[in-house]
Amino acid sequence: MTQASGTGTIVHGGGVWSIRVPIPDNPLGYTLVHLLDTGRGPVLVDTGWDDPGSWDTLVAGLAACGVGVGDVHGVLITHHHPDHHGLSARVREASGAWIAMHEADADVVRRTREHAPARWYGYMADKLAAAGAPAEHIAPLLAARDAGRTPRLPGLAPALPDRAIAPGELVPLAGRKLRAIWTPGHTPGHVCLHLEEEHPAGREGHGRLFSGDHLLPGITPHVGLYEDPDDATVTDPLGDYLDSLERVGRLGVAEVLPAHQHAFVEAQPRVRELLAHHEERLTHLLGLLGEPRTPWQLAERMEWNRPWADIPYGSRNIAVSEAEAHLRRLVKLGRAEAVAGSDPVMYVAYAA
Ligand SMILES: [Zn+2]
Ligand SMILES: [Zn+2]
Repeated sequence: MTQASGTGTIVHGGGVWSIRVPIPDNPLGYTLVHLLDTGRGPVLVDTGWDDPGSWDTLVAGLAACGVGVGDVHGVLITHHHPDHHGLSARVREASGAWIAMHEADADVVRRTREHAPARWYGYMADKLAAAGAPAEHIAPLLAARDAGRTPRLPGLAPALPDRAIAPGELVPLAGRKLRAIWTPGHTPGHVCLHLEEEHPAGREGHGRLFSGDHLLPGITPHVGLYEDPDDATVTDPLGDYLDSLERVGRLGVAEVLPAHQHAFVEAQPRVRELLAHHEERLTHLLGLLGEPRTPWQLAERMEWNRPWADIPYGSRNIAVSEAEAHLRRLVKLGRAEAVAGSDPVMYVAYAA
């Protein structure tokens, strides 16, 4: 792996490059936007955060690879999050490129574009109340709902994709063999893209994997509940994630090109590490469920990267969602159950 001088561009060989596109004010630092040469022109895997500086970096990075942004032929999106899909609209505007995404994440994009902000605030307030959040935590959401305020969230008008990424199938790209692997969990429609071609450095293993946020070398991706105000299905995102991880581990890839941090070769050990991490978390949670607790009370007691008192407002919502995803898994596994008649609903370890 070499680095083009003076830019954030990484040359991987075999017609693959990565560009570090900054995410402003975010500890993740940057998104790795991958560039794939095809017989019909360059194709991007993800686009990066929608910010003028990020756009300039993307354009300069493409230029360092000898590509004008107007030449981009297509955009493949691993998942709908704004650090991946944020600049897609601008790329399409500049180039006429198609944008492809898995249907389940395209649905999320559609909902985000169509829903009135008040609906979103109300939905979040109801969800948090059901999880046992205290009234003072919910109050700002209710106030925002009643004031008809617009959430200060990025990517409120994300680009609608024009194509669907079909799970298990080869993406129709001239001269390349790139297979879509549906890996739900981090989002319902997350995909990894498996470049089923020999490794350019002859490294042993089965091709290279664009892993998005599914498999990262040093970060455990967030797995919370899928947020859908229109769907009351009891989903099991953590179960989805763990299944997806095992499937990706079985591919036996020679190298992983994730969307953050850096490329790495030890795919299977990393998969095992992540599986063990979640197993440990589930066991810890089960210990906390020796007495009945709401998801909020569990989140307060789980281990995070800092004490609960220091976790900011928005991150607490994410933490509760993550606690609920782990709870769902325990309930599905028959290791915990809801306490009948409790409101907000409490959970307790299943008495063996
Ligand atoms: Zn993500
Ligand atoms: Zn990301």
